[in-house]
Amino acid sequence: MEFNVTLIPGDGIGPEIVREARKVLDRVAEKYGHRFTYKEVLMGGCSIDAYGVPLTEEALATAKASDAVLLGAVGGRVGVDSWYELPPNKRPEAGLLAIRKGLELFANLRPAYLYSELKGACPLKEEVADKGFDMIIVRELTGGLYFGERSTKEVDGVVTAVDTLKYDENEIRRIAIKAFEIAMKRNKHIISVDKANVLDTSRLWRKIVAEVSKDYPEVKVEDMLVDNCAMQLVKNPAQFDVVLTENMFGDILSDEASMITGSIGMLSSASLGAGKLGLYEPSHGAAPDIAGQDKANPIATILSAAMMLRYSFDLDKEADAVEAAVKSVIADGYRTVDIMAEGMKQVSTTQMGDLIAERV
Ligand code: NAD
Repeated sequence: MEFNVTLIPGDGIGPEIVREARKVLDRVAEKYGHRFTYKEVLMGGCSIDAYGVPLTEEALATAKASDAVLLGAVGGRVGVDSWYELPPNKRPEAGLLAIRKGLELFANLRPAYLYSELKGACPLKEEVADKGFDMIIVRELTGGLYFGERSTKEVDGVVTAVDTLKYDENEIRRIAIKAFEIAMKRNKHIISVDKANVLDTSRLWRKIVAEVSKDYPEVKVEDMLVDNCAMQLVKNPAQFDVVLTENMFGDILSDEASMITGSIGMLSSASLGAGKLGLYEPSHGAAPDIAGQDKANPIATILSAAMMLRYSFDLDKEADAVEAAVKSVIADGYRTVDIMAEGMKQVSTTQMGDLIAERV
């Protein structure tokens, strides 16, 4: 099959980690007889240097016209890079908001997986970490409290701030459908997280999720209150497969889920819209402190590319092969410096990419 991929290396370690992900994609293409055509565009600080803006209309148009976008990271150091002397809407990170908006991405996917070899980095009790976990958080990205009307004004002589939490049934339905589609590619179990004992938006959420579930009889669905979910994530994370939730709850829970894996360089993410086009990127930032040193861990980006194969191209077998290659390299003791431990073999960014590509 043939796919067009927009590559956005970005700033800092971005170009190094995207290069390794592309290496792995090329190996997938060679092994499984596909063709990936790449177009590279600038975003973030490098785009400001070249064009004066963090994302040009042309770069966005290229991304829109492709089948998927693979992003490294953008940004630099406040007080060091001149980009941060610009107003906030002209800084590198504004490119991220612009591309997410421009591609109409409303679903954010953050997997959290504990490699048994890396469980020493997991901050949970040994008996909990020993059971492992493999979940994906599906978070609504464009509605809810972060996008509702807000104001701060004096009411009867008292300064009062108001944020509005609003969801309509269509917004809930489309994210629920995404979660069910994802569950069908995994263990067919959704835990839908809300605060239905208090919030009207959560009661509507439950009703719509229950309606959508009728179209996916194979998927088991349970509702869980968000406060309970926050506790269950540290008490028994093995129970989760797909966690479906609204914007603010997802913001908090996905960071909690990342934290319990203990390794930022391993965490992939994806943002999806209504069709197949998606934006795939590691959960970490541009790590300017280690940029250009061939030290960065490329695994989060390589796993993001695996998600691209699975969710934008429906190449599940190929995605499985990339994930298995990562597991095998970890099992054989190869580590970049961020996950290095005694007795393991330390490798560079390039060597890690080579090792994973070889094993696909
Ligand atoms: P960061 O994730 O870039 O780095 C935090 C720490 O983790 C650093 O010590 C870094 O060296 C390390 N680290 C991160 N990724 C790594 C990897 N793949 N391998 C090895 N070590 C890794 O977060 P930060 O320092 O808060 O932000 C740096 C810049 O990145 C800022 O300009 C920030 O705005 C930007 N940022 C961008 C994104 C994005 O592009 N999506 C996300 C977060 C931060």
